[in-house]
Amino acid sequence: MPVRVICNPVHAAHVPPHEVDNGVVVPPWEVPARYDAIRAALAARGGFAFEDAPQLAEDVVCGLHDPGYVAYLRDTSAALAAGEWVMPSVFPFAPGAARGEKARRGTYCFDTFTAITAGTFAAALGGAAAAYRGAELLASEAERTVYALTRPPGHHAEHARCGGYSFLNSAALAAAALSAHGPVAVLDLDVHHGNGTQHLFYARADVLTVSIHGDPAGLFPYFSGFADETGTGAGLGLNVNLPLPLGTDEAGYRPALAAALGRVAAFRPAFLVVPFGTDAHEADPIGGLCLPTGFYAELGAAVRALGLPALVLQEGGYDVATMGECVAAFLGALA
Ligand SMILES: [Zn+2]
Repeated sequence: MPVRVICNPVHAAHVPPHEVDNGVVVPPWEVPARYDAIRAALAARGGFAFEDAPQLAEDVVCGLHDPGYVAYLRDTSAALAAGEWVMPSVFPFAPGAARGEKARRGTYCFDTFTAITAGTFAAALGGAAAAYRGAELLASEAERTVYALTRPPGHHAEHARCGGYSFLNSAALAAAALSAHGPVAVLDLDVHHGNGTQHLFYARADVLTVSIHGDPAGLFPYFSGFADETGTGAGLGLNVNLPLPLGTDEAGYRPALAAALGRVAAFRPAFLVVPFGTDAHEADPIGGLCLPTGFYAELGAAVRALGLPALVLQEGGYDVATMGECVAAFLGALA
């Protein structure tokens, strides 16, 4: 049985112009070629069946994100011509301060890496559609392993803020949809902490969030992902962060992986959602960890051993030359 790959055909509508880091304009890492590299690697390996995600109504994502934020993304994209973009210059903290367009940009975004372009909303909604379709296939027991091939990423998107190249949190949307059918564990294997997913489920008892990532003291998103963030209220104890020192290799990664898998298994979830990045790879330009390509099959096999219906969603990974092989190895071992 081939693994079903739900594709986001409109991803290429989102082409970031650049990023701003420490006040300096730098080329964008989150580019359409990432998607193409993964698709080519899966096609070359074989055993994958590609299909496009059906369209998703905007109000489905409004159950997860603030409707005002979703409208902001939609209207901002719609007002831009091809080649234009919007990025915040100020980040208002005062309540009610965001009355004008320039203030709104910084209210609905937390960094200077995440430009909105004319095609951003369509691409982000397409990614949410792929995730939602994947959740439907698991919930109906039509499939036990599904992969959502999409960009831009989603796991940094919070209830009402974009950032980290993320606009709509597709993994969280899938987890929320699956939670209607049973408890859900989210196992985030991107090298960056999934602050958006943590934020969205922080007080919930029915969704466990576990993340292995580079220590946020030195790695994006910098403000979230520390080990003492463990949940609140009904969700207390159900958020697990496993930060690793920058430079960690596979020997250092294995104990964190074992701990993460142990927490997932103890929760006894009905479904597993895996926001997956290849940016913990040693060749990744912005990751900081040192996993070799050969480790990705081991990673997939370890997740497979949980024996859970699993939806894997593409998040980060910025070394275009190696990321396709890593995804193919992970999915090949998982399925
Ligand atoms: Zn990442």
